[in-house]
Amino acid sequence: MMRVLLCANNCFMLNIDLHCHSTISDGLLTPTQLVERAAMRGVETLALTDHDDIAGLAEARKIAGAKNITFINGVEISVSWRGRTLHIVGLGIDPEYTPLVAGLAAIRAGRSRRAENIAAELAKIGIHGSLEGAYAHVGERRLIGRTHFARFLVEQGYAKDVKSVFKKYLIKGKPGYAAHEWTALSDAIGWICGSGGRAVIAHPGRYDLGKNVLKDLLNEFRALGGTGIEVVTSSHTPDQVKHFAQHAQNMDLLVSCGSDFHGPNESYYDLGQLPELPLGCTPVWHDWAEVHQSNTTNSTY
Ligand code: AMP
Ligand code: MN
Ligand code: MN
Ligand code: MN
Repeated sequence: MMRVLLCANNCFMLNIDLHCHSTISDGLLTPTQLVERAAMRGVETLALTDHDDIAGLAEARKIAGAKNITFINGVEISVSWRGRTLHIVGLGIDPEYTPLVAGLAAIRAGRSRRAENIAAELAKIGIHGSLEGAYAHVGERRLIGRTHFARFLVEQGYAKDVKSVFKKYLIKGKPGYAAHEWTALSDAIGWICGSGGRAVIAHPGRYDLGKNVLKDLLNEFRALGGTGIEVVTSSHTPDQVKHFAQHAQNMDLLVSCGSDFHGPNESYYDLGQLPELPLGCTPVWHDWAEVHQSNTTNSTY
């Protein structure tokens, strides 16, 4: 099990994973299966961060309690900012907070409309039945995303795996892409902070932002009340880890880490397998009592 001294501020790096998905959004494991896998792999603190939905938190929290895992309520909110899609992770949110609950419901309704548009785009190139096909991969029909289309397309033999389907069909400029307006950055941060949570920019390396645009984003994010940036995540190269850790330090932002696990063989890092944060970073959990209490109680140092 990974237990290493982290940084100069007396924070110990736990086996901590603050970004992953269940069948409530586009993950392959139910919340119960996900937490069981995390426990099996030595995770000590876990946040479930489904896209635009918090319906899995209660189940995950219950199993986490039984497995002696410190559980953090999370969500990953889809946002439009300057014509781009960004993901904002909310950690320590209150799942009962009405503006958050209503806001996420509105985003999911938008996802259903976008799914119809994606299916219409795919039909134009002769791929029919993709809406029903994608929904067949959705757990409870609450939330549909591109990953569900991707799994349908793989099943139908249009590409060998999910990654290749995205490249060929589902990203901007490809035939199965449908542009979509998500919620505003200010909404997502407002709901997260209003519910007592901490807002974190998910996988910043995935947005391909130039230096100045990144600076603008970090400034605006902070001005709106955002406090964290994900540094260690499946989609970051070691250079990106260093790069965003440096930005976090320059901008006085807390850093987070999460596998962005969607299922076995669908993410670079599995649960409980993350490398440590770079030295000198202040972790997003530095002042979370529940994490430090459980570390003291369970620690084998
Ligand atoms: P959506 O929010 O429905 O637009 O879908 C975004 C999700 O699609 C991400 O959270 C990933 O799970 C998945 N995804 C996006 N881009 C890729 C890619 N290039 N390869 C594999 N999965 C991807
Ligand atoms: Mn996803
Ligand atoms: Mn994401
Ligand atoms: Mn994610």
